[in-house]
Amino acid sequence: MLVLEFKVRAKKHQYTAIDEAIRTAQFVQNKCLRFWMDNEKVNKYDLNKYCRVLAHDFNFANKLNSQARQSSAERAWSAISRFYDNCKSPRAERTPLDKGGRGDRGFPKFKKNCRSVEYKTTGWKLDLTTRKCIIFTDKNNIGRVKLVGSYDLNFYPIESIKRVRLIRRADGYYCQFILSVEVKVDTSPANSVIGLDVGLESFYTDQNGNKINNPRFLRKGEKKLKRLQRKLSRKKLGSSNRRKAKQRLAKTHLKISRQRKDFAVKLARCVVHSNDVIAYEDLRIQNLVKNHCLAKSINDAAWYQFREWLEYFGQKMGKITIAVPPQYTSQICSDCGKKVKKSLSTRTHVCACGCRLDRDENAARNILKIGLGTVGHTGTWLQDSLNACGEDTATFSGFAVSISRTEKS
Ligand SMILES: [Zn+2]
Repeated sequence: MLVLEFKVRAKKHQYTAIDEAIRTAQFVQNKCLRFWMDNEKVNKYDLNKYCRVLAHDFNFANKLNSQARQSSAERAWSAISRFYDNCKSPRAERTPLDKGGRGDRGFPKFKKNCRSVEYKTTGWKLDLTTRKCIIFTDKNNIGRVKLVGSYDLNFYPIESIKRVRLIRRADGYYCQFILSVEVKVDTSPANSVIGLDVGLESFYTDQNGNKINNPRFLRKGEKKLKRLQRKLSRKKLGSSNRRKAKQRLAKTHLKISRQRKDFAVKLARCVVHSNDVIAYEDLRIQNLVKNHCLAKSINDAAWYQFREWLEYFGQKMGKITIAVPPQYTSQICSDCGKKVKKSLSTRTHVCACGCRLDRDENAARNILKIGLGTVGHTGTWLQDSLNACGEDTATFSGFAVSISRTEKS
């Protein structure tokens, strides 16, 4: 599965039409959820059938392409089925659903600000001569829009385009093409293993004491976000200055999230490429988001994403990724196995056995040791949680790289 993304260039009335389509998609999604709540034993197919009823009852719903309506219903269904799954699984294994990711059952919520609409194989047509324009043919009247970007759609057969998404972001509109193409990756063994310890001071430390520094955008971005946030809070409610300030803040958020993704993808690909076994701590989002320090939270988000890409590339390149339980990895001596208590501020590990190491290096050695003691992937996979949220996949995938994670559908 490959995701190619283009920026959309269009006229003002066309952007309005895109907004309209996104609003309709959200409407259908929410209506389906309501239908499921109000009726007993509703399944996936009932929701699909219900789409037709909606199109009949509401004129604006009828304007949206029928398959696009269906994919909205599918989004509603994926939230519902995730809820069912969560009800079955024990608390610790639940997918983090909301931002807090507290591992609750995650009763599906009504969407308030949907940002995308998804077409399948109908309702749109590519300009076949240049493939630099797409024409939306449903009654929504989006019409013909320009695609700006460096990817070349000529490279792929039209039949391989399985879905087309229109996405609204802080800095404009985007069009994603989801293609069913197998991405070939080089899978030669690297004859090397690595254990990673995540730190506050550096992004990670490996078992040989190599450190990757925290990327500069984390610090810089944090400062900028704080400043913009302050500015926003001083603006009058409902004023146009407030709207502008909000827009600026949103754009900065978008920029940082792109930098974060770019960083995570590049680093993860590099780490997986040059190692056969990658061991790291099984940190869950629940433990990570508790603190209020902004820099830390951006860092956590970056690390979380890095881990997702590690697992993704691990699968693609046939390497082993192991998430080990994070307990005591920094306390135990990697040489003799004795426990050496230390506080967060102690940066060096000094043991009675004569072992003297950087704190993070010691932890990385322990992580690798535990990792090598297990076979295959243990701990939890992050990928499923990501695949499940259609909306998030939309914003995660395909901006800086051409490879995106496989969707389960
Ligand atoms: Zn020791």
